Amino acid sequence: MKNNCIFCAIAEGEIPSFKVYEDEKVVAYLDINPFTEGHTLVIPKTHSEGLLDTEEETLAAIITRVKKVAAHLKSALPCDGFNILQNNGEAAGQTVKHVHFHIVPRYGNSPIVFESHAGDMGQLKALADRIRMA
Ligand code: 5GP
Ligand code: ZN
Repeated sequence: MKNNCIFCAIAEGEIPSFKVYEDEKVVAYLDINPFTEGHTLVIPKTHSEGLLDTEEETLAAIITRVKKVAAHLKSALPCDGFNILQNNGEAAGQTVKHVHFHIVPRYGNSPIVFESHAGDMGQLKALADRIRMA
């Protein structure tokens, strides 16, 4: 298997998948363990691990296809919205080390919970001062 990578194998057609879109640069297919109906993964055909080691040109190609596929899902499914999710590193929940974007259609009020908390304004300001890019 190329790069010992399951998503490269899917892109090459060595492992079956339920493809919903393909062109010269990307493949989009249904996630095998969907959060919701229509949960789709968009991947580049070239291997890279995550956002930071992916070429800008490739990222630009992926995000335009994410938009195209999301627009299609929104018209083909009775969903009311969608989330785009992109995990980097195990701490972020990345389990497959081939960069991918999740498109997760959302229906009515069915919850997928990302827990947040009210930010402390002083701490937020101090953090922004510390990490602001030049
Ligand atoms: P991550 O957690 O790395 O962002 O997401 C990886 C996703 O790939 C998971 O949602 C998982 O269900 C999906 N996945 C893992 N192996 C396969 C596979 O062989 N086929 C498909 N279609 N999806 C897969
Ligand atoms: Zn790969």
